[in-house]
Amino acid sequence: MEAPFLTGKRKHLIDTLRKAGISNEIVLDAMLRVKRHLFVNDSAFMEHAYDNKAFQIGCGQTISAPYTVAFQSMLLDIKRGEKILEIGTGSGYQTAVLIELGAKVFSIERQKELYDKTKPLLQKLNYKAMLYYGDGYKGLPLEAPFNKIIVTAGAPYIPNELISQLKPNGIMIIPVGDGAEQKMKLVHKSLTGITTTEVGDFKFVPMLKNRQF
Ligand code: SAH
Repeated sequence: MEAPFLTGKRKHLIDTLRKAGISNEIVLDAMLRVKRHLFVNDSAFMEHAYDNKAFQIGCGQTISAPYTVAFQSMLLDIKRGEKILEIGTGSGYQTAVLIELGAKVFSIERQKELYDKTKPLLQKLNYKAMLYYGDGYKGLPLEAPFNKIIVTAGAPYIPNELISQLKPNGIMIIPVGDGAEQKMKLVHKSLTGITTTEVGDFKFVPMLKNRQF
């Protein structure tokens, strides 16, 4: 049993997200079930775990702010059983939300230290995801195609490999930009090509290149 004040804080966070414009109750319900304080490993941040903020999670990386997680999850519009590729496992918080939404999640992390930390955490919490230590720019050709792809690091461009790993009628949500701020893009793949819509400004840590595995 968790302390009642944590349940209360989580409910309060969901109300904050609803007021901030997240209208999808399925996403809000999923987020009500995920104990974000268990993904914020530094005890100094614990009491702020249900603030609508990003936090450091080690290796210079961050757990995305709840609003960002809600926003990306809402745009993905997940149906039960869909195969989802996530780039940037990080703390595993977004992974857990996707699983609560009924997705079959494949997630890639490029930092070994985070991969080694998050894998046992998700297992312990009984979130069954396929986790990979690798390069998100390459996606997972052996597991493709995916219904949907979510990128949770700022990408300098939309990687072609990821587009090619989407099913026809698939969608990808990806923050694109070189600087500190990115444009969130929603990419639709049809049989004839792709269309891209810009849906807002966000701040992510950069999607890193040039690492040997
Ligand atoms: N979804 C995460 C957000 C983590 S921040 C969460 O909810 O906690 C972005 C993550 O992307 C970081 O963990 C970072 O190490 C990872 N990352 C950066 N470049 C990457 C790449 N090329 N491939 C895979 N992961 C990458």
